[in-house]
Amino acid sequence: MKIVIIGGGIAGLALANLLLRKGLEVSLHERESGNLAKGHAFLMHPAGISILEELGNCKSEVPIPGQKIKDVIISRPDLSEERKTELGNWLCLSRSETVQYLNYLLPAGIVKFGHSFSHFEYEDGKATKVVFENGESEKGDLFIASDGARSAVRQSLFGQTEFSPVEVKEIVGVVKLPRLIESAPNTFRKFVSHNKGLALGYVPCGHDKLVWFMQFDVRFQANPEESPQNLEALCRELLQEFPEVVTGILDANDFSNVYVWNSTDFELLPEFHKSNVILIGDAAHVALPFTSAGTTNALQDASTLAGLIEIGMDVENAAKKFYSVRAPLVGEHIEFGRSIKNEFLNPSEDSNGPIIPLIQNLKKV
Ligand SMILES: Cc1cc2nc3c(=O)[nH]c(=O)nc-3n(C[C@H](O)[C@H](O)[C@H](O)COP(=O)(O)OP(=O)(O)OC[C@H]3O[C@@H](n4cnc5c(N)ncnc54)[C@H](O)[C@@H]3O)c2cc1C
Repeated sequence: MKIVIIGGGIAGLALANLLLRKGLEVSLHERESGNLAKGHAFLMHPAGISILEELGNCKSEVPIPGQKIKDVIISRPDLSEERKTELGNWLCLSRSETVQYLNYLLPAGIVKFGHSFSHFEYEDGKATKVVFENGESEKGDLFIASDGARSAVRQSLFGQTEFSPVEVKEIVGVVKLPRLIESAPNTFRKFVSHNKGLALGYVPCGHDKLVWFMQFDVRFQANPEESPQNLEALCRELLQEFPEVVTGILDANDFSNVYVWNSTDFELLPEFHKSNVILIGDAAHVALPFTSAGTTNALQDASTLAGLIEIGMDVENAAKKFYSVRAPLVGEHIEFGRSIKNEFLNPSEDSNGPIIPLIQNLKKV
């Protein structure tokens, strides 16, 4: 049985590793041409880390990248209310290092770069071949799409996805601030306004680097012009009343490396497959970034699906089982993301303080 994976992000790379270890025939096709340095960093739940650890066991000489995050402190900008929660062992990982790590675990030649999905060819209702935009193609028995939130494969199966309106945007940057990290190397810190949709969070993603993000209600600025000067001016204007540590982060930051992230999601799909094409990761479901669920869900999807794939299996049954295991959980994350967003946009005066914006109580798969 030949399995063809489309999209070499976290979900696709993890799945390729897991399937190869089961002795299955796999190829992986990634749109980018080998430049994997894009993206900043994300937080990962211990349930995702345990899958990375399982993958890394065979090459333990190269440690999993990232910085341990053990607690989260959420406060108001005037430090009036504060909530501190122990997290256990989360990680903050740079996206590029994680993708490089998962690539490194794969045998050479599995990933074909510069292969952007164009369409499938079908026989008797089953996909038999995927064709890429450069005209190359690959035959397969099972196709798995992990081509991210804007998945072209999802669109080819289910038509245009209706994304929720963007009500919150994030400006994200990475900055070197070793002294600040030394003072709290394992803490995710976030300041959330008590009367408007505005927050600034930061998390160490290495011994001297941290990733920071400003979340803001788009009614403050719907379409910020993405020049470094404009983004810096917007951050400084909105964050005037935030503590000194925030000004320190802005002062140290190089705004030519920040980017704007649109916070959007879509309704849980009624299924994650059509015939012998299965969607996983962000291609299948997206929860708002407030949840920090994306990479953990990508890894849990890969691990769950890999556990169901066997030579000679009934693909429809495996795909339905995959949906029945994963959809209830990711559906909860979609709802959780929306509830945090609503509280963020309309902070309630009688609330018990800021919400801890992270998925919790996840089980290992
Ligand atoms: C460039 C980039 C930067 C990101 N930065 C952050 C961040 O800073 N913070 C954060 O929390 N999350 C970030 N994310 C999202 C986060 O990585 C995902 O939520 C999570 O990893 C889900 O993994 P995934 O494998 O499902 O999707 P992704 O990690 O998005 O991977 C999808 C992969 O599919 C490839 N692809 C897309 N279209 C095609 C196509 N037509 N044909 C073939 N391949 C295709 C993409 O190049 C990518 O490698 C980023 C994603 C990307 C792609």
